[in-house]
Amino acid sequence: MTTPVYQNFINGHFLKNQSGETFAVKNPATDDVIYYVEVADAFIQNAAIQSAKQGFAAWSTMSPIERSRILLKAVALLRERNDLLAKIEVLDTGKPWQEAECVDVQTGADVIEYFAGLAPAQVGQQQMVGEDFYYTRKEPLGICAGIGAWNYPLQIACWKSGPALAAGNAFIFKPSEETPLGAIKLAEIFIEAGVPAGVFNVVQGAAEVGQWLTQSADIEKVSFTGEVGTGKKVVASAAGSLKDVTMELGGKSPLLVFDDADISQAVSAAMLGNFYTQGEICTNCTRIYVHKNVYQQFIDELKTRTEENIIAGDPLDPNVNFGALISKKHQQLVMSYIDKGISEGATLLTGGKTLSPASAPNGYFVAPTVFIDCTDDMTIVKEEIFGPVMSVLTFDDEDDVIHRANDTHLGLAAGVFTKDIKRAHRVIHQLQAGICWINSYGNSPAEMPVGGYKQSGIGRENGIETLDHYTQTKSIYVGMTNIESPF
Ligand code: NAD
Repeated sequence: MTTPVYQNFINGHFLKNQSGETFAVKNPATDDVIYYVEVADAFIQNAAIQSAKQGFAAWSTMSPIERSRILLKAVALLRERNDLLAKIEVLDTGKPWQEAECVDVQTGADVIEYFAGLAPAQVGQQQMVGEDFYYTRKEPLGICAGIGAWNYPLQIACWKSGPALAAGNAFIFKPSEETPLGAIKLAEIFIEAGVPAGVFNVVQGAAEVGQWLTQSADIEKVSFTGEVGTGKKVVASAAGSLKDVTMELGGKSPLLVFDDADISQAVSAAMLGNFYTQGEICTNCTRIYVHKNVYQQFIDELKTRTEENIIAGDPLDPNVNFGALISKKHQQLVMSYIDKGISEGATLLTGGKTLSPASAPNGYFVAPTVFIDCTDDMTIVKEEIFGPVMSVLTFDDEDDVIHRANDTHLGLAAGVFTKDIKRAHRVIHQLQAGICWINSYGNSPAEMPVGGYKQSGIGRENGIETLDHYTQTKSIYVGMTNIESPF
């Protein structure tokens, strides 16, 4: 059987590039090349812009309710094709089917559905100024771009395109070069649902294609998901044409477990927030601060459940709940952090090695890893690892642990476990993070705005406010009286 080659998706169909350049995509669980993708060369880039201009002209002049109706058809198609799309995500990312089947497509569809519902409800204002008055219109920005990470490829494409399209913009999306297929399937679904050609184009490639999107003077906004370092490059490059930016970047988020907490629940949160999607989630609580009085109980339960309940293996096996990391290179990076943890004096409670499960012997697995005896100055406690590596620390004073939790340039997420309602709110209000959970961790419904404090991000995704970030306000002053002029 020949290996498929996917082209860029422009103006409602696949378009062949002129350079002939392609890149290979591997299944992280098998190390096999599963398909090739053509790189978006200058010909494709130009076609993407020209078609987006036409798409914008058609889409932005439709009534919001018409756009909403079409987007809701796309939502229905996404849900109908859940299993097919979830399988693509499993093969591209290495994450377990168990997760993709109930999370990735559904949370993507939820967000498009949410913004499709909001679109017709977006209104301007009108105010009298004496006998004159002004009114405002919420107008779309034009052509917007999205650049995605590889951990939730389809979900990221939906979270970015949902509000952009609902507000009447055209969108050019570049998925991560590790996971390019989901976005193509979304593009096909949009066309099938009735979104005009050119409104959602998919361009493929790595940093150079991303750089082109950030530089293009035809693009009004770029919404980026990825590493802090890349985000800084994107902002700098977008400044050249004064583009609006949304930055969804990395984190090193703290979870504070007080001595009155339900410890089993706190262990569940810590495990979800470190081992779900094999640790490749931006909001993960990779710094767990446990009160000294409950520390032993916490780590005993954590060790038992990690060693007994996590099943690594072929991600397509529905019994497997722990998949392979995205690439060999990433596996090596995560292992290098584990080596640093050991050399800097942390103690391995469990894990700390690569895995080669019988059902996926060539996959890029790293065992779920827990370090104890950690201190705040260790590399594993300070830097985002983006793999299944948890650091456990202890505390005995509330103010002190808040100070330690905030002592980082990142501020994506944070969590608190306690039964004391006053303490829960008091503490969470002092944590410098954009996405916070009390006695919970990781839930991110379409209704809730998400984004980072400090260097973890700029702007928000989801929630009502995001729709505003895809529009600009036009103010129109209407003179009802004669103009008074000294001339
Ligand atoms: P990355 O920064 O390496 O790449 C992200 C995207 O940027 C890719 O599509 C890549 O091709 C593109 N890119 C690379 N260089 C570029 C450049 N100079 N200009 C424009 N685009 C460029 O990130 P990754 O490894 O794909 O993803 C992992 C990171 O993403 C982690 O740090 C994680 O925390 C973060 N992340 C954040 C969120 C969030 O919502 N805050 C969600 C998922 C992942």
